[in-house]
Amino acid sequence: MKKKLAIYIHIPFCVRKCAYCDFLSAPATQELQKQYVGALVREIRDWEKWYPGRKDSYLVGSVFFGGGTPSILQPGLLAGVADAVRDSFEIACDAEITVECNPGTLDAEKLRVYRAVGVNRLSIGLQSAENEELLLLGRIHTWEDFLKSYALAREAGFDNLNIDLMSALPGQTLQSWQNTLHKVLALQPEHISAYSLIIEEGTPFYERYGGKESTMLPDEDTERRMYAGTGQILKETGYHRYEISNYALPGRECRHNICYWDGTEYLGFGTGAASLFGKERFCRIRDTQEYIAAVTNGTDTRIERNARSKKEHMEEFMFLGLRMMRGISKAEFADCFGVTMDKVYSAVLEKYIGYGLLREDGDRIFLTPEGIDVSNVIFQEFLLD
Ligand code: SF4
Repeated sequence: MKKKLAIYIHIPFCVRKCAYCDFLSAPATQELQKQYVGALVREIRDWEKWYPGRKDSYLVGSVFFGGGTPSILQPGLLAGVADAVRDSFEIACDAEITVECNPGTLDAEKLRVYRAVGVNRLSIGLQSAENEELLLLGRIHTWEDFLKSYALAREAGFDNLNIDLMSALPGQTLQSWQNTLHKVLALQPEHISAYSLIIEEGTPFYERYGGKESTMLPDEDTERRMYAGTGQILKETGYHRYEISNYALPGRECRHNICYWDGTEYLGFGTGAASLFGKERFCRIRDTQEYIAAVTNGTDTRIERNARSKKEHMEEFMFLGLRMMRGISKAEFADCFGVTMDKVYSAVLEKYIGYGLLREDGDRIFLTPEGIDVSNVIFQEFLLD
């Protein structure tokens, strides 16, 4: 039986850099975009050069174009990448194929081409429905621009849309966050990702709000109430939380992201793209010019190659699996590692089940609502010495 594989394609270009962003992305000329896509296509078409004879072992269940802003590309360029993926891998007939888009970069022609090459899901970066917050974030679009893009996507026939939102923004109140949620829910997208802003060093936001004493950021209590309110409001409107920060209508969970949490192998192409392939984790060259040069010269773009040890695999099984509301299976752990979960983790499990932060139900262990609030602390404890 073929193994399941997810494919990630990184497009490192954006119209301009948002003030909070530390992703691998930057503005670029049309010429650079063209050169990059040329290299990307070659890297994808040549992938078996590094893994001879492996194509027939895998069936691709999802492809995700992320960034950056993949929708910045001329539609013919994105179509060229999609064709390269189809020619180079066996793709399941019901594969989920997602393109990340930003409002202000979509038009009817792009959407038509996406559909023609098999894209069946869009993930739209909105972040906030309040124009003042969007301006502060340095986003290129307004709420009205988003509404136009959303309507275009529906008109083009997309029936699987995600909207990315962000809470705990500087100056944001519980009320303004809930306004964003209600405005978005009125559109009935199939999926909503709702993350809290993390202020990363090296960004303009860090200079402005990085200090702990910043009074512009919502305090811890407000942040917690935003988070709890999100779950409540979405639940009342039919969305179920299937991962700490992700909500979906029934059957519309993001299959690609689930692969990251359930340990499915994934192969990344393009600058900085991460992979878990075979027993190895690696990344690709991060610098765009260096990446293009390496692909052009036929040299290896893989960097930071690490064989994943059994210990690391066990740790990931626990803390990635517990991000999912369905939790983890003791039987799967035993099958995978040849030792029981209780033998390896009995002290941590007993402690957090005792505190009411983890719950055991039959074969499965999962976070309780209180456990979700402190999940990062719990996850740390699954690291083995
Ligand atoms: S659109 Fe996304 S990737 Fe691009 S700069 Fe803004 S946050 Fe970063």
